[in-house]
Amino acid sequence: MFKAVVIEKDEGGYRANVKDVDESELPEGDVTVRVSHSTLNYKDGLAITGRGPVVRKFPMVPGIDLVGTVEETSHPLYRVGDVVLLNGWGVGEGHWGGLAQKARLKGDWLVPLPSQFSPQQAMAIGTAGYTAMLCVLALERHGVTPDKGEILVTGAAGGVGSVAVCLLAKLGYTVVGVSGRPAESDYIKSLGASEVLERSAFASAGKPLGRERWAGAVDVVGSHTLANVCAATKYRGVVAACGLAGGMDFPATVAPFILRGVTLVGIDSVMCPRPERLLAWQRLGTDLDTSKLNLIANEIGLADAIPTATRLLDGQVRGRVIVDVNA
Ligand code: NDP
Repeated sequence: MFKAVVIEKDEGGYRANVKDVDESELPEGDVTVRVSHSTLNYKDGLAITGRGPVVRKFPMVPGIDLVGTVEETSHPLYRVGDVVLLNGWGVGEGHWGGLAQKARLKGDWLVPLPSQFSPQQAMAIGTAGYTAMLCVLALERHGVTPDKGEILVTGAAGGVGSVAVCLLAKLGYTVVGVSGRPAESDYIKSLGASEVLERSAFASAGKPLGRERWAGAVDVVGSHTLANVCAATKYRGVVAACGLAGGMDFPATVAPFILRGVTLVGIDSVMCPRPERLLAWQRLGTDLDTSKLNLIANEIGLADAIPTATRLLDGQVRGRVIVDVNA
């Protein structure tokens, strides 16, 4: 038996509880992992609370991230005792995930734990941090170098935003954060932002084109915020869009794209091919100041994941949440 957060949906309603689960109930896979830590991402919040249609079958163990030790394997890349990590691939949505003491997975989904990180540090980064890295890689790929000007990061006190600020600052970019929490301004500056702007300035309908300010941007918010960011992006600037914390709509015009040559890059971490994942984790190993992870992450136990999911969706959690599944 092992402990897991289990989401059920039936005539009794939609609910998440910590339960004892028999190992025979684990899904199919060629690698069984003794999980040490998982995390809470925005998507885990949606899954646990049921506020978004993330879970595709029930009962479901949530947790889109995990790190742990291989216990059984028939996959050629992995041996018993290897420490591995997993982000995405629909785990925690359609396949049992990391908020459990055990997981059975496809070995093709796993990544060896990079040597620079402890298991806790890898989860302090988690999907949010790996997505922030994918956003930075996209800016680089499209030619945004530090000399081009300021980079805007929205939702800067959240998980993706916090790691994006850290990465960009260490790489020499001038970073401006956007946050709805004035009390977190000092935190965002301590991660490397030179300035923090108020979220409300971006949150409602703006003009098709504004004053050109941003050489690049990482947006986790979507909706009017993303439209306003595009409208204020400089000639040939680049916006990496990865989130919908403010809404899934995109009430914009084509003006920034056809008059200023702005590039809007979509970022998906879930199905991102393995070579790019390995590159993102390798770059996290060299470009993230790990001392900043102590500022970004808090650790909780398995049962606390359930109430913390609500706080996360309500925008009350700063940075990242590591879940010690054995506590
Ligand atoms: P968090 O909850 O940690 O951070 C989101 C942040 O967005 C909040 O901290 C808050 O920052 C800001 N925010 C919240 N609500 C609103 C709102 N209504 N309007 C404007 N800003 C808001 O989540 P994550 O960092 O884990 O994820 C952020 C987004 O990125 C989510 O939408 C998530 O689904 C998406 N995502 C996408 C991935 C992909 O593969 N494309 C992978 C990972 C995440 P502040 O308080 O500073 O304003």
